[in-house]
Amino acid sequence: MIEIDADGVVRFTQALVRVPSTNDPARGRSERPAAELVEAKMREWGWDPVVYEAAPGRPNVVAVVEGGGGPGPTLMFEGHTDVVTEGDPSAWSVDPFGGEIRDGRLWGRGSADMKSGLAAILYATRALQLAGPFPGRVKVCALADEEGLMLGAHHFVSAGLTAGVDGAIVAEPEAGEICAVAKGALRLRVELTGTMAHGAMPQHGRNPVAAAGSLLVALRELQGELQARHPAHEHLGEVYVTPTVLRAGSEEQVNVIPATASVFVDVRTIPGVEHKELADRVAALASRDGIDAEVSVLVDRPPVDVPVTDPVVAALAAAHLAVTGEEPVYGGVPGSTDGTVLTHWGGIPSVVYGPGGKWIAHQADEFVEVAEIVRCTRVFAEAARRFLTRDF
Ligand SMILES: [Zn+2]
Repeated sequence: MIEIDADGVVRFTQALVRVPSTNDPARGRSERPAAELVEAKMREWGWDPVVYEAAPGRPNVVAVVEGGGGPGPTLMFEGHTDVVTEGDPSAWSVDPFGGEIRDGRLWGRGSADMKSGLAAILYATRALQLAGPFPGRVKVCALADEEGLMLGAHHFVSAGLTAGVDGAIVAEPEAGEICAVAKGALRLRVELTGTMAHGAMPQHGRNPVAAAGSLLVALRELQGELQARHPAHEHLGEVYVTPTVLRAGSEEQVNVIPATASVFVDVRTIPGVEHKELADRVAALASRDGIDAEVSVLVDRPPVDVPVTDPVVAALAAAHLAVTGEEPVYGGVPGSTDGTVLTHWGGIPSVVYGPGGKWIAHQADEFVEVAEIVRCTRVFAEAARRFLTRDF
């Protein structure tokens, strides 16, 4: 088994938690200080990181570690440097940016999502490097804005940095589950346009508020139809079509039929559901009863469905078994990750696995088990070795 620096990876996780790299541009905060820590650590180890501006002030840090052991595949390790805000500080029983270790747990915002995972991919790659030459290379990527619009991952793909990468391990907290599938997300804004009129003479108007009501009923039917056509996925569950925002008219003018109404819809999909087709379908359902409807796509993150036989998944599963002595458990990611972008737009098979509980992310009193950070670092180092030497 590859020897890792257990103390080092825990201490570096603490250091990362102590920089409040919240994704909060409105308050002038970003992932930059965490990205700088990562870059400095890479340089300390003699790596040659390149910093790309995914957007102004939003750095992606990328280092390629050559194995020096002849030709071979390229493995990508991916983590994000931003964290969500701490929210109400009084909801916390610890300092959200203290990085305190108590009761075998490391506490703080980002401890699970995903500064421990980020530290683990760095220290795993370093351990692999120190263990001797290996074929191929490891591309270690600390990307920006995962918690926002995934600007970092989108920039990474559009800059062509996925070229030659054979597989990616995304270190999000999944409680030790190997997640090669992820749910898709499609967020739609439906603008309904009718004709303004006096409430006393509705026959002279076309009422978008009533049309919004019909649309809500139709969306419920559409969800039922989709669920019947695409049975629940074993790791991802059902397709959901959920209206979340409704806007029309004004309280001051109850006697006026407004000209427009808006309905926002949050659709969560599973493999097999085509987003384009679904958006067109919603547009058709909305354009009825003489109302004009325009559908805009606010977010389009397709589902991820990487086969468990893919080398990156197989190598990770073999490493998990070798390190932990436990049979791998396969799961699914309920939301999207940077892996969605890497797989869908970058064409790289990705798998999500990392330290920390699945449900602790974004909550107050976020924590990660210290033992899990160490264990995960070992699994990552072993997974890299197996992927690069095709031993799985
Ligand atoms: Zn995350």
